[in-house]
Amino acid sequence: MGLKDYKRHSRNITRGPRWKALRMQALERDGWACVKCGARRRLEIDHIEPVRDRPDLAWSLANLQTLCAAHHSEKTRIEVGLPPLNPKRQAWAELVRQTGRNVEQKG
Ligand SMILES: [Zn+2]
Repeated sequence: MGLKDYKRHSRNITRGPRWKALRMQALERDGWACVKCGARRRLEIDHIEPVRDRPDLAWSLANLQTLCAAHHSEKTRIEVGLPPLNPKRQAWAELVRQTGRNVEQKG
């Protein structure tokens, strides 16, 4: 299964007002920082047990953790079975994401 298929599983969860409220709860609990590195920027909420495997835990706060974008994509890649990006590609992906974010903010 590819990355797109994998993400499809959580998309049903992560859109809609119910997710927004739960996401806020997770951010508050984790002190608005990545639980792995303490980063406070570009935070994303991760399902510790992926929705694909444990749809019953999709709405459980205990199954959520705050990760920065880099740690989140790293974890997702491992779960999908893709090798971690090598540092050069990771830096490039990071740059592309930041550029995209800047464009969003301007718009
Ligand atoms: Zn991190």
